[in-house]
Amino acid sequence: MLESLTNYCIICQTINLIQTVFVLTCTKRIEFDAAHRVREHRSVCKMLHGHRYAIEATFASQELNQIGMIIDFGEIKDKLKSWIDKYWDHNTILHADDENLGRAIGQITTQNVFFMNCNPTAENMANFVLHEICPSLFVDTNVQCIKIRLYETPSCYAEATIEKINAHV
Ligand SMILES: [Zn+2]
Repeated sequence: MLESLTNYCIICQTINLIQTVFVLTCTKRIEFDAAHRVREHRSVCKMLHGHRYAIEATFASQELNQIGMIIDFGEIKDKLKSWIDKYWDHNTILHADDENLGRAIGQITTQNVFFMNCNPTAENMANFVLHEICPSLFVDTNVQCIKIRLYETPSCYAEATIEKINAHV
């Protein structure tokens, strides 16, 4: 959906036609349980511990489909929740430098510990889902995941976003 209006640009000192792109969004919340630890943390977060995480994934489109949806919430569940259930839920998420710890856990529990190439903080996990996971999961759709909000506790979350900006035409 587009709307056009004029705007005086103080930089190029001309009147420009500004095209505003109205983006429609929908958000799906997915909860999961996982353990992690933050390497080099000065306090208790360096200990292996668990959280009831929640991801709120926001998807955007400029148009609705023929039945009035951005994307069926069920399709988000099929794609993103399935990925989280397979790789993160009831698992341990560690920095790759914690290989020895992950291997020891896996040998005892038989779980397939998930390693990241960075500390598994809420910020890094949100960024990873937004940029590394969602683009491939939703490649066959007309929507884009533009925000991942990842709650580590009910009162603490980190967000990774893809910003949309107005464009001169
Ligand atoms: Zn933690």
